[in-house]
Amino acid sequence: LSAGIVSTQEPEDAGTTPDAPPTSVLYRELLQNYKNIVASEGVYLTDSTGRRYIDAVGGTAVNIIGHGVSEISARVADNWDSTSFVYSAFMTNPWQEELARKLASITPIEDGRVFFTSGGSEANESAVKLARQYHLDCGRASKWKVISRTASYHGNTLAMLALSGRPTWSARYSPYLDSSPKIAAAYCYRCPFSLSHPQCGIRCAEDLERVILQEGPDTVSAFLVEPISGSSLAGAVPVEGYYERIQEICRKYDVLFIADEVLTGYGRTGRTFAIEHWDVTPDIVTVGKGLGSGYTPIAACVASGAIVDKIRSVSGQFVHGFTYGGMPMACAIGVQVFDYIQEHSLFELASTRGDYLRARLEELAPTIPAIGDIRGLGLLQGVEIVGNPKTRQPFSPDRKIASRIVREAEARGVLFREGTPGANAGKDGDQIQISPPFVISPNEIDEMVSVLGDSIRTVL
Ligand code: PLP
Repeated sequence: LSAGIVSTQEPEDAGTTPDAPPTSVLYRELLQNYKNIVASEGVYLTDSTGRRYIDAVGGTAVNIIGHGVSEISARVADNWDSTSFVYSAFMTNPWQEELARKLASITPIEDGRVFFTSGGSEANESAVKLARQYHLDCGRASKWKVISRTASYHGNTLAMLALSGRPTWSARYSPYLDSSPKIAAAYCYRCPFSLSHPQCGIRCAEDLERVILQEGPDTVSAFLVEPISGSSLAGAVPVEGYYERIQEICRKYDVLFIADEVLTGYGRTGRTFAIEHWDVTPDIVTVGKGLGSGYTPIAACVASGAIVDKIRSVSGQFVHGFTYGGMPMACAIGVQVFDYIQEHSLFELASTRGDYLRARLEELAPTIPAIGDIRGLGLLQGVEIVGNPKTRQPFSPDRKIASRIVREAEARGVLFREGTPGANAGKDGDQIQISPPFVISPNEIDEMVSVLGDSIRTVL
């Protein structure tokens, strides 16, 4: 946790070396020689060769308070009584209670009750199971289906892959996956209905009602949605009125509205939760990455008191749980991260730094015609690169423009992430996601955007 830790390892080649002997780790990219990150501070990561990078994606939109904040470990050491493990299925602990209170106080849920997990996929699984349990206890046993959106990501467990609109990740595992009903994501730059706002009548929201009726309202349990698209559409923001209509449709058919804020929650988009950009109140919100800010694996599912009280009064049990949910150390770190955020007004910072980043991107765009779209809110911004800005025709997928831009930027010392193709793989443009820690300074933003521009120009 402490800043500026320097490795005693010898420098090594951090490049791509397919012939490198395998290590004991099973990496995702098995032909790459991974950078070995040995030190971190603020927005910088340093690898074992001594190279420093600006972490323009905050890991994967995880880090918000900055890297290497030694105050977190110091405060945990000062306050935590070293209780190693408490099984939250049958016991609780002060840290879980305190973090739940704090989290519920900022989550846009009425009388929120918090269920902790180790990661976002587990938080979403918990939300889906809780919704099912609620309907059972309301005497609506036929309600079980979850409607989600194409081009979405809700996690890597089998159930969450089934609900994610990300065929490039799920296709291999299709024998295990039920096909769940989906509606198109709100993606105005490439409207799935070839319409434009406001004449469209927000058709992408209306489509939820069509699918509920098609599936049978008495079979639909919940609608699961990332309020602002994260890694799939690099920051696509629905228009004003979208979620108000979604909420109306959900309420009409007793469908629970689950906001997956694993990536967007905890200030990332300039509001404490992204759904607060609209005038709605979801039934369940999940939160992940920012909650531990990378200092501990932790996530949570926050449900309304009405849902939990109903379950409490009927079955009295939520038969679900993960060994490490709510464990003292993770929650103690979560409490310190929470306090640190409040003391440094970091949610507010995400809004002002986000505006600054957006202004710099808007300045860059006219100088590079291939920048077709800039989108996002706060410190979740995305850039879509296209072959023809007039027709919005993407580059051929074979050219892998986004991954080449990401590699070029990396060579120049900035780590970006390419958007992962969703249902429209090959038809969408190449997307670059930008989601740095909130403590990024204006100068660092200038450098990041300048490297992005240079990298795009070099690759094109
Ligand atoms: N939901 C969203 C919106 C995410 O972006 C992610 C991770 O990227 C997840 C869920 C899954 O979280 P985890 O990887 O912690 O299981």
